[in-house]
Amino acid sequence: MDYEEVYRRSIDEPEAFWAEEAKRIHWHVSPQQILDYSNPPFRRWFVGGQTNLCYNAVDRHLEERGDQLALVVVSTETGVTREITYRELHREVNAFAAVLQRLDVARGDRVVIYMPNMAEAVFAMLACARIGAVHSVVFGGFAAHNLALRIDDAEPELLITADAGSRGGRVIPYKPLVDEACARAKSPPPHVLIVSRGLHDAQPRIDGRDVDYATLRAEVGDADVPVEWLESNEPSYLLYTSGTTGKPKGVQRDVGGYAVAMAQSMRTIFDCAPGQVMFSTSDVGWAVGHSYNVYAPLIGGCTSVLYEGLPVNPDPGIWWSLCEKYGVRTLFSSPTAIRVLKKHDVSHIRDHDLSQLAYLFLAGEPLDEPTATWISEALGKPVIDNYWQTETGWPALTLLPGLDMRPVRFGSPGFPNLGYRMKVIDEGTGETVGPNQKGVLVIEPPLPPGCMSTIWRDDRRFIDSYFSHFNELLYSSLDWAIRDDDGYTFILGRTDDVINVAGHRLGTREIEEVVSSCPAVAEAAVIGVADELKGQVPIVFATLRDMAADAGARDQAARDMQRAVDASLGAVARPARVYIVNALPKTRSGKLLRRSLQALAQGQDPGDLSTLDDPGALDEVRRALAGSD
Ligand code: ATP
Ligand code: MG
Repeated sequence: MDYEEVYRRSIDEPEAFWAEEAKRIHWHVSPQQILDYSNPPFRRWFVGGQTNLCYNAVDRHLEERGDQLALVVVSTETGVTREITYRELHREVNAFAAVLQRLDVARGDRVVIYMPNMAEAVFAMLACARIGAVHSVVFGGFAAHNLALRIDDAEPELLITADAGSRGGRVIPYKPLVDEACARAKSPPPHVLIVSRGLHDAQPRIDGRDVDYATLRAEVGDADVPVEWLESNEPSYLLYTSGTTGKPKGVQRDVGGYAVAMAQSMRTIFDCAPGQVMFSTSDVGWAVGHSYNVYAPLIGGCTSVLYEGLPVNPDPGIWWSLCEKYGVRTLFSSPTAIRVLKKHDVSHIRDHDLSQLAYLFLAGEPLDEPTATWISEALGKPVIDNYWQTETGWPALTLLPGLDMRPVRFGSPGFPNLGYRMKVIDEGTGETVGPNQKGVLVIEPPLPPGCMSTIWRDDRRFIDSYFSHFNELLYSSLDWAIRDDDGYTFILGRTDDVINVAGHRLGTREIEEVVSSCPAVAEAAVIGVADELKGQVPIVFATLRDMAADAGARDQAARDMQRAVDASLGAVARPARVYIVNALPKTRSGKLLRRSLQALAQGQDPGDLSTLDDPGALDEVRRALAGSD
């Protein structure tokens, strides 16, 4: 099918288009109205329709594919692999749902899930969906403070956790973090359910609050918990954004629109049919994990591979060996992960039979050209950059090989996804900019199915955060973009990441792209700092591929970076200073924390660091800055 034609229909006749797409899922009661947009910017899809995410992800497949693998959970941390069929998944989810009911969790109640990538995290999510409880998965790597903030926002009836997580063989007990978070929270949950893997059992239980999953699981036996049919626009789950730009926002998702978006994208974007295998390397705690480890592949009747562990453990070939073993068709990962693999030899990829693998999708942050080229050449398969946000829940810009495989253009996540009415507009005038001109990427409401409904219990913040940047009612992505002559969109960075050097506006992304193309560079972050003469100047923080490089090699690398920028973007963009560090500060989701770098470089407070991955990286930066002055 022709992308252009299908896309046009999705935009010109959204109601007819989505009415047809809605048939991809099971409805207990058909929608009475496809779209209600009487209260902009809020919109409701498939109004009056009743459905259930768990039913669509599990029950619906029992007859045809009960014995097919639904979920494969591989942990190179515990050494355990679990292969779970749809029938087994159905049994486990029902049991988990019965346990939730015993703990007085009912429709509309929130359940915080604070777990690593393990099978029970998926059971718990689906069990919540089954009984109409609203899950809020909090990434297991977050500290007590982050967890407490999310507990206070969601006010859960129950918190589900594991005895421990593990990272690179180091066991991280979760219980003390949960106890601390509950102590800090204003409204701690009445119950904490602990799923133990025997990693760290010797933890004191709090009487009346803490319950063991294994005990309750044995008590409920083979339970049969009826599906709760929800109106399409009831909340299904909450998920907080990464917090790269500040305090995370509690994104609220619906039921029907999300299910339809998931079902559609499995075919049109990820080109993965029932019975085929998708492997997403994400953590279930992120948006990609929710959509492409859990809901979409299962709603699509596929096999979903979930992985716990480092990409280089036991060796950098682990993901490719899983692709070979399970016949993965669609692999989904992030540029950060590929940059880690890029430090190792391509033989780790080439030594595997990847004949079943059709695509590698990458999302989450800019995919720089050197990384894209390296992995494309190593794999010999299309590497598809796709752009989205926790808010959108599924790709906003992408290629759609399931529909129409357009040529990959490096550096671009492609075209608007179906139903997404996107423009690049001038920040000041709000006018659509011409080809190859920078502007803000916006979505014209109503937002398509799959995207957020609102910010949890904060409609005001929803409007203020996204819809109040222009005169017209537009959803601002808060990202800069350009569109080339052929309609490919390129993301240039966040709107707060633009540098103004003597009146020239430069996207940090453009400079980073050039700097990272220097052979010595592993990764780079560019920020603008105040300068008396020019207003702002760009400075670079970079890690080198050779961590052991001596002072001479580091100086040489720094000069190479400056020269490369001169040559590609002109002297105006030349970094005023280059700092070589051993690690860059990132969020737990792998995004560069440029705002903190910028603050430190200007001698200011680095701001909200709650989602910072490795505090050591900031110390590195502080040291580098101190050394130069
Ligand atoms: P917060 O909104 O709390 O500051 P965040 O924006 O980092 O956090 P996410 O929703 O996880 O939280 O990330 C979405 C952002 O990631 C996008 O707005 C964009 O800046 C970046 N991004 C995602 N995919 C891509 C991509 N393919 N290319 C470039 N940037 C991307
Ligand atoms: Mg964001």
